[in-house]
Amino acid sequence: MPYLKGFCWVVVLMMLLTGSPSLFAAAQAAGPSLIRDAEVESVLRDFSTPVFEAAGLHPQSIRIFIVNDPAVNAFVAGGQNIFFHTGLLINAKRADEVIGVIAHEVGHISGGHLARTQDQLNKLSTPQILTYVLGTTTALLLGSPEVGFAILTGGAQLTLQNFLQYSRTQERAADAAAVTILERLKLSPEGLYAFLNTLSISNQWREDGSPYMRTHPTDTERLHFLEKAISQSPYRGTRSTQRQDDQLAFVRGKLKGFLTAASDLKTLPASKSVLDARYARAIADYRERFVDQGRAGMQALITDYPWHTYIYDTIGQLEAMNGHTEKSFTAYQKAYHALPFDALIRLSLGNAYLERAKNEPNAAKKTHVYGSAEEHLGFAAQKEPYNALAWRSLSIAQAGLGKKGLAELSLAEIALQRNDLKQADLHIQRAAIALKAGDEGWIQLQDLRQAQKAAKAEKKRL
Ligand SMILES: [Zn+2]
Repeated sequence: MPYLKGFCWVVVLMMLLTGSPSLFAAAQAAGPSLIRDAEVESVLRDFSTPVFEAAGLHPQSIRIFIVNDPAVNAFVAGGQNIFFHTGLLINAKRADEVIGVIAHEVGHISGGHLARTQDQLNKLSTPQILTYVLGTTTALLLGSPEVGFAILTGGAQLTLQNFLQYSRTQERAADAAAVTILERLKLSPEGLYAFLNTLSISNQWREDGSPYMRTHPTDTERLHFLEKAISQSPYRGTRSTQRQDDQLAFVRGKLKGFLTAASDLKTLPASKSVLDARYARAIADYRERFVDQGRAGMQALITDYPWHTYIYDTIGQLEAMNGHTEKSFTAYQKAYHALPFDALIRLSLGNAYLERAKNEPNAAKKTHVYGSAEEHLGFAAQKEPYNALAWRSLSIAQAGLGKKGLAELSLAEIALQRNDLKQADLHIQRAAIALKAGDEGWIQLQDLRQAQKAAKAEKKRL
């Protein structure tokens, strides 16, 4: 039942907010931002899912976060939450490097290293890990309605690396676990080795080192262990597939295309052969308002990589950024038809429908368009119950359809996530007036009342 998941988040968020308001304030102030992006998240999920399965963990419960930070790093925190720095993704040359790093991180989970660290963390400052998650919620709530590639400011201070420091013994255990996991995936640890080797070479030239090297102590003994494992592996020489490497290249190109400062966009080179350079250049062309060039670049990529349908989501966003709402709408529709279960794509398409409804003069047609918006936004809110932007957009669609009670419930969801109990009360009361037993939303109303009651009890307890 998706709503229950939302309820858990409400409790977590409340613990955070009421537990440590000063930390919350600090978290809002500055710190690295998180990125929400359907394409990047899906590639990382594709890489992570088999690794989790091979380790006997449930991939459905993994949450993937992308931290906008050029330092090379990846870590697991607060259960099955994997955080990838953009620096790691941009610097990884092959998919098996990323997969190797994930296998090593999963080795820390299955080795119980995280649980012990987590215990220590709980005593020190539980909310700090979860503030990352809160950062997402808060930012989506306060931020602009742009979805697509969104940089969410207001994330936590990057304090995690200070206490997620593993011992050398734990490093060896995680490496051993990674070798086993990779073997189940018919891979040798060559990717992990290549990644660590590159880092340790580049690290010799840097005083501060990368956070990955600080949290995962790497010495020659570790590298020797992996060298030996490679030489003994039946899958020696087996690398990630071309498709996986291309997926990673799309990720690199997207990150470069969107994260490069506007003033530096002209430094992104044009290329006819290198995938990430082509993608980055096409995005840069759109951002520099060379829309025709951008479109031509994207079209060429679609021709060469027809399987990579996430490109339509990117085009949808870039067309919208340039004010071409019809072209944006068409692109989001293509993305949806190729990827009907992606919550972020449904959210983007739902918002595109809202835009159309706003501009539709014919009343009957307007209702029809609001209906489509409601369908897509409802899907997004159910799949991401902590996503305040999905609830907010959904409430607009519901109001447009005259479903006043449901619109109030969606607003109550947001208020509860923010732990604004007064506001939640108001919306729940309004919904209760509009709804009667058996109506659509009646069960949601009862669930929200429960969540509200629990939130009040929790507030009193603290
Ligand atoms: Zn490690």
